[in-house]
Amino acid sequence: MPNCNVILIILDTLREDSAGPIGELLKGEGFREYRDVIAPSPWTIPSHASMFTGKYPLVHGAHETPDRKAYNIRIRDRSGFLSKRMREEGYANYLLSANPYITADFGYDDFDDILELLYQPRFEVLNDAEKREMYRLRKKKDTTGKIISTLIGRGDIKLLFKGALNRVVESSFVTAIYHQYQHRIQKWPFEKGAKKMVEYLRSKVLSGENAGGRFVVINMMEAHEPYFRKPILNMKLNLNQDHYKKTVNRNFLDNLWNAYRKEIGYIKEALREIIYLLNETGELDRSLIVVTSDHGQLLGEHDQLGHGTFLYDELIRVPLFIRYPSDMTLKEAKQKGRYISLTSLYDLISKGEERYNEEHLFSEAAFSETYGISNIFKPTMDCEREKIKRLERRKIAIFHNGFKGIFDTEDLTLEEASSHRGGKVTRNVREDLATRALEFMETEEKKGVGRVRFSKKI
Ligand SMILES: [Zn+2]
Repeated sequence: MPNCNVILIILDTLREDSAGPIGELLKGEGFREYRDVIAPSPWTIPSHASMFTGKYPLVHGAHETPDRKAYNIRIRDRSGFLSKRMREEGYANYLLSANPYITADFGYDDFDDILELLYQPRFEVLNDAEKREMYRLRKKKDTTGKIISTLIGRGDIKLLFKGALNRVVESSFVTAIYHQYQHRIQKWPFEKGAKKMVEYLRSKVLSGENAGGRFVVINMMEAHEPYFRKPILNMKLNLNQDHYKKTVNRNFLDNLWNAYRKEIGYIKEALREIIYLLNETGELDRSLIVVTSDHGQLLGEHDQLGHGTFLYDELIRVPLFIRYPSDMTLKEAKQKGRYISLTSLYDLISKGEERYNEEHLFSEAAFSETYGISNIFKPTMDCEREKIKRLERRKIAIFHNGFKGIFDTEDLTLEEASSHRGGKVTRNVREDLATRALEFMETEEKKGVGRVRFSKKI
C-alpha cells in the first residue's frame, strides 16, 4: 500500500530559460531545482511516452516518421507503463489533461478518473456514432428531404431532431456567438483549462480520505500556442522563408513573447493554488511533486516558431523542480557535471521506497531525438517541398561533458558541435560526441525494436 502521493505536473511547452517566475515560487515552497535537464524529443507524444516508459523514442517507438504523423502515433509496448505500474502498486490514479495527445485514446487510460479539457471550437450536438451515421446517410441519400424521410421511416426521431439542431449550430452565426462566449467568458485561448483543473483537484481528487496514495498526472497547456484568437503560428511559416520574412517582424515577435510570458504568470498562479490546496488538505508533506515540461518553444530564434522537428536548446532544455515528501529521507547526490534526461523520471517515480535517491536522476550523457516533421503538411510550393525533404531526417542531440552535438543518422555525420561550459570544441570532442551518438543508437536499438542497422564508421 503506498504511503504517499505522487504528483507529476507537466507544464507543456515551457522553456527552461522562461521558467524563472515559476522557479521562484516553487523554490520558496521547498522544491529543489535541477539544471541541464534534457527532453528526449522536441514535442509532446515522444516526450510523454519517454516519461511513462523510461525509454528513449527509438525504443518505445511513439514518434513521427515520414509516413506516420501526430494523430496516427500510438505507444506500442505498454507493459511497464508508468500509470499501469502505479495502479498495480495500489495508487488511485488521476489524469488531468488539456493536451489532445495525452488522453485515453492515445493510451493514457490506466486512470481511475480522467479530466480531459480539450478545446472544442464549436458545440458538439452529435456523438461520434451519430456523426458517422449522418455522414453515411448524406453520402447515400444526397438530399435533405430523402434523409428526413429515411429517419422518419425507421422511427429515429432522436437522430432527426439532433441532426436538425446540428445544422443550426453549425451555421456561421451560431459559431461566431459561441467563439465570442469562449473568448469573453471562458477567456480562451489565454485560459486553456488550468482553472478547471484546480477546481477538480479541490472537489474530486483531494476531497475525501485516502490513506494510501494518489498518482496524479497533470498536463497544463497554457504555455502552448495558440496565444491569440486568430492562430498566428503555423507550419507554413517554418517551411517557407519568404512567407516567414513577410510575416514575422519585430512587432509580431514582441506580441508573441508578451503573450507567452503572460501565460507563464498565469501558470504560476495555478501552481500556487495547487500547493495551497495540498497544504490545506494536509497532503503537501506526504507528496512527491515533480514539475517539469515536455519540450520548449521557438519564438523567433533560428527564424523558427513553435516546436517539434528541431533539436535547438530552446526546444529540448526543460525546467525540473522536485519536492520530496518531508517524512522521507532523501539520499542526496552530487550532479558533478552530469545531465538529467526526462526518461529518468520513470525510475524516480516508480521505484517505491527506493525512489528518494537523487542518483536515479543523473546520467553521464543525455540524448534527444527527432524523426522529422510531426504533423501532416501539404506543401503548395517547390521551396516548401524542398525544405520538407531536408527536414524529414532522423537526428540525435548528444549532451556530454559540457558539449552538445547534433548527429545526422542518415549520413552518419556530426553536423554541429558546441560548448555550454566554456570548453573548446576540439577534434577529440567531436569524435567523442559522434561515438556516443553511435553507441546510443546501437545499445538503444538492442533494447528496442531492432529496426535500424548502423555502420561503425563515422
Ligand atoms: Zn507538448
